[in-house]
Amino acid sequence: MSVLRRPLLALARSGRVKEALTTLPVASSVVRGYVPGESTDDAIRATARLLDDGLAVTIDHLGEDTLDAEQAEATTRVYLHLLDQLAAHGLARRAEVSLKLSAVGRALPGTGTDLALENAHRVCEAARAVGTTVTLDMEDHTGVDATLTILRELRREHPDTGAVLQAYLRRTEADARDLAYEGSRVRLCKGAYDEPSGVAFQTREEVDRAFVRCLRILMAGQGYPMVATHDPRLIRVAGSLASRHGRHRGTYEFQMLYGIRPEEQRRLAGDGETVRVYVPYGTDWYGYLTRRLAERPQNLSLFVTSLISKK
Ligand code: FAD
Repeated sequence: MSVLRRPLLALARSGRVKEALTTLPVASSVVRGYVPGESTDDAIRATARLLDDGLAVTIDHLGEDTLDAEQAEATTRVYLHLLDQLAAHGLARRAEVSLKLSAVGRALPGTGTDLALENAHRVCEAARAVGTTVTLDMEDHTGVDATLTILRELRREHPDTGAVLQAYLRRTEADARDLAYEGSRVRLCKGAYDEPSGVAFQTREEVDRAFVRCLRILMAGQGYPMVATHDPRLIRVAGSLASRHGRHRGTYEFQMLYGIRPEEQRRLAGDGETVRVYVPYGTDWYGYLTRRLAERPQNLSLFVTSLISKK
């Protein structure tokens, strides 16, 4: 973990900083590097290009933490439209969607879990109708139990619903064991939120070691591991664990974020690996972008330059 990560994530929560940064048009150079655009058409165009390059895709409509049932309904409809468009453009076979439960109502007091389950269920039904799948993104640690409960419910009817586990959480090895069963699609990532030491490992070394332990469990298990990292060392470890466990290509996949290490994405795909690119789109890019900047403080200078020049 970068030493700057925690202060950057804290700074990003300040209302004034948010106001200053969100006045930047989405077209500013830094945002554009991570988010292909605001509209569903932009996402579809980016997806078509990536698929042409031999990559697979998972699309995320940006937005999180809604406390408003109408907003949750609007987000659900955006996903239904997106799935419809994927099918209309013949892209649904190699493009799925990633869904944040807090964007479809999980955080609503009282009724949140039920509402998020109902909305996520509608998205899963629509995905199945066009021949693709849904993966439930994982958010901060306070939502992990609710997310895994909703996942279990969804998997009764939609066993191909993907889960996400974050290696930085101390609980995750146990969750990985629970989820390493046949047919279980599990994305393993390091984790992107600012979590307290009581629940999460804090140093890069600890997180990397935890990632490898979880990867061992998932690769040895019966499920379908989705290795979501840009870290060259962990990508190598994943490859060797896959061979050690006699897994052939297509029984696991790599995943990376749109705009990050694109040459590596193409290199792995050229080697015959399945590589899925996470494509976020929409107007609500602030939370996503600040997490990416906190991971890579070098990008801040680019960001400040674009802020000053108001490109
Ligand atoms: P790092 O150690 O952060 O990076 C390794 C190398 O990758 C760096 O040295 C650098 O070369 C490159 N790199 C990394 N980040 C950047 C950047 N921002 N800009 C440029 N280069 C960079 N987190 C969640 O908490 N929940 C989720 O549901 C979730 N879903 C994800 C889905 C996918 C497909 C991916 C790839 C990540 C997801 N994440 C999610 C984010 C993840 O938890 C990490 O925060 C993020 O991937 C950075 O960690 P890393 O494994 O790439 O390792």
